[in-house]
Amino acid sequence: MNALGKRIHALIESQGPLSIADFMALCLHDPEHGAYAARNPIGAGGDYITSPEVSQTFGEMCGLWIVQSWHNQGRPAKPILVELGPGRGTLMKDVIRTIKAAAKKFFDDAHIVMVEASPVLQNMQRQTLGETPAPVHWIDSIDLLKTDHPVYVIANEFFDCLPIRQYVKTADGWCEKVVTTKDDTLAVALSKLADPAAVLPPEAAAAPEDAVLELCPAASAIMGDLARMIMTGGGTALIFDYGYIEQEWKETLQALQRHKYAGVLAEPGDADLSAHVDFAALKHAAEAVGAMVSGPTGQGDLLADLGIEVRAQRLILANPKEAKSILAGVQRLIDPREMGSLFKVIAVSRPDAPPAPGFRP
Ligand code: SAH
Repeated sequence: MNALGKRIHALIESQGPLSIADFMALCLHDPEHGAYAARNPIGAGGDYITSPEVSQTFGEMCGLWIVQSWHNQGRPAKPILVELGPGRGTLMKDVIRTIKAAAKKFFDDAHIVMVEASPVLQNMQRQTLGETPAPVHWIDSIDLLKTDHPVYVIANEFFDCLPIRQYVKTADGWCEKVVTTKDDTLAVALSKLADPAAVLPPEAAAAPEDAVLELCPAASAIMGDLARMIMTGGGTALIFDYGYIEQEWKETLQALQRHKYAGVLAEPGDADLSAHVDFAALKHAAEAVGAMVSGPTGQGDLLADLGIEVRAQRLILANPKEAKSILAGVQRLIDPREMGSLFKVIAVSRPDAPPAPGFRP
C-alpha cells in the first residue's frame, strides 16, 4: 500500500472505521497525497479527460449561454462569473473569450470567482487564464462567496467528486458501508443503522434487497447555497455532470487511474474517485429554497440546440486542416453513445426569470 494508504490504515486502527465520504475526502484532498491537492488528474496525461478538454466548442457554448441569459435578464450590473472546480482552467478561458467577443459590456463592472480547493490546480488556472478582462479571485470553498450581486455560475464535473455516503439494504436491514482494516490492507465493512428512517429518504423503505443508496450531503448543501444566492441577487447557474435522474439502487462510486478503472481501496490518492450525480437530489435542493430548475436534459441535446455544430463548421472554415479533429471532438460531446446522454445538465434560476436558453419546455 502507498503512503496515504498506510496513514489511513493507522487512522482507522486508532479511531475506528471511516465512512466512505471521509475516506473519499482524504483520497481527493489530503494536502500531501490527495488526487487533486497534490497533482493534476485531468487531461491526456492524467486520469481522465473532461468536456472542455475535448473541444473548445464546449466552453464557447457555455459562454454564449451565459451571454444570452444575461441579456434575457436585462443585463444586470456588477455580475459575478463563478466557476466551481475549474480544473486546468480551460473552460473558464473559453467562456471568457466568448463573452468578450459576444458581450464585451458584461466585463465593464464584473468580477470572476474561481472556487478551487486544490492549490496545485489554482496555480495552473492562474497560468491558463493569463490576463483577464475583469479581476479574478480564488477561493477554496463556495461558503466564502457572500454576495448579493447577480451570479453566473458554471460547473462541469464538480458535483461528481463531492464525498458520498453509501448504504446497503441487507436481509437484516439498512447498513452503512464503511472502510475498515483487514490485516495490512483496507477493506469494506457494513455497519447496521439503528434508525434508518432518521438517516435515509422515505423511498428507501420500499427498496429491494441488496439495493445500494448513495447520498451526497455536500452536493445538496452547495446546490442550496447557490440557489439561495440566485434567489437573492439574480443570475443563473449551468451545471453539467454524469449522473442519473431515477434512483437505480446501484453503486456508482468509481476509481479512475490513467484512463482505466482501478480499485477504490487499493492505492488511496493515486486514483481519482467520483460517483454519479443524483440529479433529482440536486433539483430538489434548489427547489427547496424556491429556485426554478430547467432540465435535467442530456448534454448532447442542449449543446446541439445551442448550435454547437454550426460553431464547429465556422471553426473548420477557419482551420480546414483541423476539420477531422474538430468534428470528432464535437461528436464525442454530443453523441448519446459517448458523452451526450450519460452527461446531463440543469439550469437554476429565479422562477420569474425568462426561460433558460436551449432547454426545451
Ligand atoms: N471543471 C473541470 C475540472 C473537473 S475536476 C473540467 O471540466 O475540466 C473537479 C474539480 O473540482 C477540480 O478542479 C478539483 O480540484 C475541484 N474540487 C473538487 N472538490 C472540491 C471542493 N470540495 N471544493 C472546491 N473545489 C473542488
